[in-house]
Amino acid sequence: MINSMAAQHAIWPRKGDVIFEIAGRAKEAIEIYGQEKVINSTIGALIDDDGKLICMDTVYKELKSLPNEKIAAYSALEGQPDFLEAVQTACFREYRPKSHIKATATPGGTGSIKHAVWNYTNEGDEVLICDWYWAPYETITEEVGRKIRTYQLFNDKGEFNIESFKENFEYLVKKQKRVLTIINTPAHNPTGYSLSDVEWDKVLEIMKNACINEDNKIILYVDAAYLDFAGEVFEKREFFTKFSELPSNLFVIVGYSMSKGYTMYGLRSGAAIGISSNKEITEEFFYSCLHSGRATWSNGARGAMEVMTAIASDPKKLIAYEEEKSKYKKMLIARGKAFVESSKEAKLEILPYKDGFFISIPHENPKALMEELVKHNLFAVSLKKGIRFAVCAVSEEKCKKAPAIIKKAMEAIK
Ligand code: PLP
Repeated sequence: MINSMAAQHAIWPRKGDVIFEIAGRAKEAIEIYGQEKVINSTIGALIDDDGKLICMDTVYKELKSLPNEKIAAYSALEGQPDFLEAVQTACFREYRPKSHIKATATPGGTGSIKHAVWNYTNEGDEVLICDWYWAPYETITEEVGRKIRTYQLFNDKGEFNIESFKENFEYLVKKQKRVLTIINTPAHNPTGYSLSDVEWDKVLEIMKNACINEDNKIILYVDAAYLDFAGEVFEKREFFTKFSELPSNLFVIVGYSMSKGYTMYGLRSGAAIGISSNKEITEEFFYSCLHSGRATWSNGARGAMEVMTAIASDPKKLIAYEEEKSKYKKMLIARGKAFVESSKEAKLEILPYKDGFFISIPHENPKALMEELVKHNLFAVSLKKGIRFAVCAVSEEKCKKAPAIIKKAMEAIK
């Protein structure tokens, strides 16, 4: 009997998604024991204190008031022209790089990563990412015959490990001449780390150095999926200005997502924004993306684009949207602080957290720790090097309690 029909390249190990699996178990526990008794820190979305998905009123009011044609219609392949303007403003605000910039719409930030990996690496190339990484980076690269190579995100002092970055980056430059690096900042998933301006300068210096040799092609992908939830007092966008007047063989792509900043996870919208000192490079980027977009998803969700455009073009709506977002950002900051402070009290080691949705706890046996936590009705995601706690999904009160539970679970499996 024939039991395989898929082409060789399409056969993968049959494993389910780890996050969805543990999230399912958390849901079952809530049904049995009630919301009060369960800490569900598996979900990478903003959840209110009662366990409900936060959906921004200013966004959904706008979506529901759109005429049907504006939701139903195809968008232009590259995205609606007014959206392409609005998304650049939403991304850079007053920190727009002084450079040539061209954007294309993508289905979420994921689509933008796919564009970068497919259009800016050759078959067999290694893509440089850090050792604490969002698993789909690996899925996207292996899907198209590329691999990942990792550097250590942190040094012993808990700072960005510039030495490890340099060593691995320079190794790849030598080996491939073409290097795509993905840096997820600000508010990195899964650690909540954000590169400081000084760290950015060091990264760019290493890259610029590689660009002295004009045969090298360096592509920096900035995964800004959590941009809207970074920075307590000041927005963490100033680093964008560092992408002004770069060498023409250093090309920057910023991946913008509407999933988190507009609570539009399922509406699949975002953009790939290319930045270069050479206009021809951004034109080339635009047409490469246009082609591969057409070949994969055709075009993006029109309704989501129209929402961003409508909010951006009306100062009153924009203020209301920003106010609503700021309310949730404050909620997230309070939860993060509660978790960090309680970790200190419980003597629980966590990775340096600065901003955003997640905090990571290093551990040599993450799966065992995850299972032990389940016994305490605490659900967290096990990663290769530890567990991820989603403060975005857990009330401040539970964020305060969780570190002591995690510490206790660690001791139990020692
Ligand atoms: N990058 C990271 C690190 C993420 O965690 C996510 C979402 O979870 C994304 C990119 C993109 O998400 P989306 O495709 O929903 O915009």
